[in-house]
Amino acid sequence: CCCLGLPPTLQGSGAQGPILRFDGEAFRLKKTRELVRALLVLRLCAWPPLLLSWSQRLLGSRLSGALLRASVYGQFVAGETAAEVQGSVQRLQGLRLRPLLAVPTEEEPGTRRGGEAWYEENLDAMLHCVDLSSLMQLKVTALTSARLCRELSLRLQEPGKAGELRPERLATAMEHGQDLSISSLSPEQNQHLRASLNRFHRIAQYARAQAVRLLVDAEYTFLNPALSLFVAALAVRWNCPEEADGDGAPWVWNTYQAYLQDTYERLHGAAEAAERAGLAFGVKLVRGAYLETERALAQQSGAADPTQPNYEATSRSYSRCLELMLGHVCRRGSRCQLMVASHNEESVRQAVKRMSDLGIPPDGAVCFGQLLGMCDHVSLALGQAGYSIYKSIPYGSLEEVIPYLLRRAQENRSVLQGAKREQELLSQELLRRWSPPSLRRHMFLSHIWLCLSPPPPIADIKGLKEKTTSICAIWTWA
Ligand SMILES: Cc1cc2nc3c(=O)[nH]c(=O)nc-3n(C[C@H](O)[C@H](O)[C@H](O)COP(=O)(O)OP(=O)(O)OC[C@H]3O[C@@H](n4cnc5c(N)ncnc54)[C@H](O)[C@@H]3O)c2cc1C
Repeated sequence: CCCLGLPPTLQGSGAQGPILRFDGEAFRLKKTRELVRALLVLRLCAWPPLLLSWSQRLLGSRLSGALLRASVYGQFVAGETAAEVQGSVQRLQGLRLRPLLAVPTEEEPGTRRGGEAWYEENLDAMLHCVDLSSLMQLKVTALTSARLCRELSLRLQEPGKAGELRPERLATAMEHGQDLSISSLSPEQNQHLRASLNRFHRIAQYARAQAVRLLVDAEYTFLNPALSLFVAALAVRWNCPEEADGDGAPWVWNTYQAYLQDTYERLHGAAEAAERAGLAFGVKLVRGAYLETERALAQQSGAADPTQPNYEATSRSYSRCLELMLGHVCRRGSRCQLMVASHNEESVRQAVKRMSDLGIPPDGAVCFGQLLGMCDHVSLALGQAGYSIYKSIPYGSLEEVIPYLLRRAQENRSVLQGAKREQELLSQELLRRWSPPSLRRHMFLSHIWLCLSPPPPIADIKGLKEKTTSICAIWTWA
C-alpha cells in the first residue's frame, strides 16, 4: 500500500475491502490549532454540561461569548453566516468529509415558542442552507409545534383514528393546500396543522429542486409517531418512482433510534411497507439522544420505560437494525439507503465488514454520519478509505445554538469512552508534532536502522516489535 502511495488508513486486504485503522494516523491531516482546540473542548465536555450556562453567568456574556466562540462553538458549529458555513464546508471537503447541514433549533418538551412566525423563520433559515450540502437534517419541531405532534401521536394510537390520519391524505393536503380537518383537533390546531404541512411541502419541494435529500430527525417517543406520519406523507410524494432521479434514491429519510425497545419491529415493518408500495426508503440509524429525558418522563407518568435496559442492549439492537438495513440495501440497491449515524467504532467496523461481505460499494447506498467536532479519528479514516462520510454541521448564532451545544456536551459525556480515546489520540499526535527535532531525527535514524538491519530470526520478531514499541513510547512521552 505504501508503494502505491495510499494513506495508511486504507490498506487493501483483497476480497475483504479496505481495513480501517482508527489509530489517529488521520489526525496528521489536521492543523495543530484544530487539534489543540479539539483536545481542550473534549476535556471540557467531560464536565457537567451546566458549565456552559454557568460560564455565561460567571464571566459576563461578552467574555463568555468570546470564550465559547473560540472553543466549543468553533469545535461543534459551522458558523453564523452563509460565508462562514461555506468556509467550513470547504475545509471538510478538503479532508474528504461531506457536510450534512442542520439548523439547530431545540424545542424542549413543555416549552412554547412564539407562534407561526417562529416556525416561518426556521423555515427561512432552512431554505437558506439547503443548497450548501447534498444532505440536510430536518427537525420537525422546528416547523411545527411539539404540542401538535403530541396530540397527533396520541390520536394515532387510538383505535379507529388512524384512518383519518393516513399518509396519503396528508400528502394530498400538503401538496394542494386542501382544507384538511382532523375531527379530534381544535380549529386552531387544524389551522396550525395545515400551515405546518405547507412548510413541509415548501422545504421538500425546494430541496428536491436543489437535489438535496432531507433526513428527518427522530425526537421523543411521545412525538415520534407524528414525526413518522409526516415522513410517510412526504415519502408518498417524494420517494415515488416518478420523482426518482438517476439512481432512484429516496429524497426523504426517517431516523430510527436503536435505544427504543420496539425499533427493530418498526424498522422491519416500515422497510417492508415501502417496498410493497414501490417507494424508495431511506434510514438514518442512531442509538438515540434523549435517554435521560425518556426515562424521567416514563417514571413521572408511571408508564413503562420505552428504552433498552442498558447500553449493551442498545448496542445489540443497533447491530440487529444495521444488519436488517444492510440486507434491504443489498436486495433493493440504491432504492434503499442507509446512514450509519454513530461514533461507535464497533458499529462502524460492523457496517464496513458487512458491506464488504455483501458487496456493497463504499460510496454507494450506505454512508456514515458523525457530528462535527466529534470522533474525527473515525471520520477521517473513513473518508480517506473512500467511504461516504458526512459530518452533521449545525449553523447559527451563539445564542441560537447554545441549547444545541448543551446537548452535545451531554452526549459527549455518554460517549465518554470514545471521547477518551479520541483525547489520547489527539495528545499523541500533538506530542509527535511538538517533540524536539533532535529527538525526531533520532526516531528517523532508529527507523532507518530497523529497516536496514538484516531480518531477525523468527523467534526475535516479538522482541523486535517490543523494542520498536518502546522506542516509540519514549519518543511520544518525550
Ligand atoms: C449524524 C447524526 C445524526 C443524529 N441524529 C439523531 C436523531 O435524529 N435523533 C436522536 O435521537 N439522536 C440523533 N443522533 C445522536 C445519536 O442518537 C447518539 O446520541 C449519539 O450518536 C451517540 O451514540 P453513538 O452510537 O455515537 O455512541 P455510543 O457511545 O456507542 O452510544 C451512546 C449511546 O448509547 C445509548 N446508551 C448509553 N447508555 C445507555 C444505557 N444505560 N441504556 C441504554 N442505552 C444507553 C444512548 O443512546 C447513548 O446516546 C445523531 C447522531 C449523529 C452522529
